[in-house]
Amino acid sequence: MAPELIGRMIDAACAAIDANAELLTRLDSAIGDGDHGHNMRRGFQEIAVQREQIVGLPLGAALQKAGMALVMKVGGASGPLYGSLLIAMGKAAGEAPIDAGGVATIWAEGVEAVKRRGKSEVGEKTMLDVLVPAQGALRAAVGDGLEPAQILDRVRQAASDGLAATEPMKATKGRASYLGERSIGHLDPGAQSSALLIAAVCGVLEREA
Ligand code: ADP
Ligand code: MG
Repeated sequence: MAPELIGRMIDAACAAIDANAELLTRLDSAIGDGDHGHNMRRGFQEIAVQREQIVGLPLGAALQKAGMALVMKVGGASGPLYGSLLIAMGKAAGEAPIDAGGVATIWAEGVEAVKRRGKSEVGEKTMLDVLVPAQGALRAAVGDGLEPAQILDRVRQAASDGLAATEPMKATKGRASYLGERSIGHLDPGAQSSALLIAAVCGVLEREA
């Protein structure tokens, strides 16, 4: 993958997190400890610091380096979880071809790593409720032979539907699970950050398509 494209994805992801840090913190204040915006901003600021080294790497190594930055810099649960996602995607990127189908395969590996690290599944009111349906939408849209612009629309829509679906859920993993029934009626902060990151990357790829 061209270094410029990796650079644009980093910039878009960092900008989306920076612009929405207060939103993420507000969501986490309702059902967690109010640090998700801070955690994500800290992690993505570190990725921005390492931008020049990351963009010079092949995609797989770039993903792994960005993932390590999140693991090292973010104190909250989301750092190791997003770190696991990117590191596993990076490892998978070594083997898969980098077309839309290849990205679906790489992404699936990342999702499995989050599940293993979080001992979590879809339906527990976490980032997985966005990551899993969005990855599934990519896989399905590729299978249907859709054009790149339509594929990106499907992925963004699945992410946004997945985010909305976390509102009525009761959290059974992470800090929000301490609230039990009282976690119902709020969006999950990690699902929100996943939707933001997916929309940011789709926006970059849309301009490429
Ligand atoms: P912390 O919960 O340590 O304060 P953050 O606030 O940064 O960390 O991140 C919280 C988000 O992390 C949650 O909204 C949820 O999406 C995600 N999360 C927490 N625990 C898990 C888990 N076991 N599996 C998947 N995602 C999780
Ligand atoms: Mg938190």
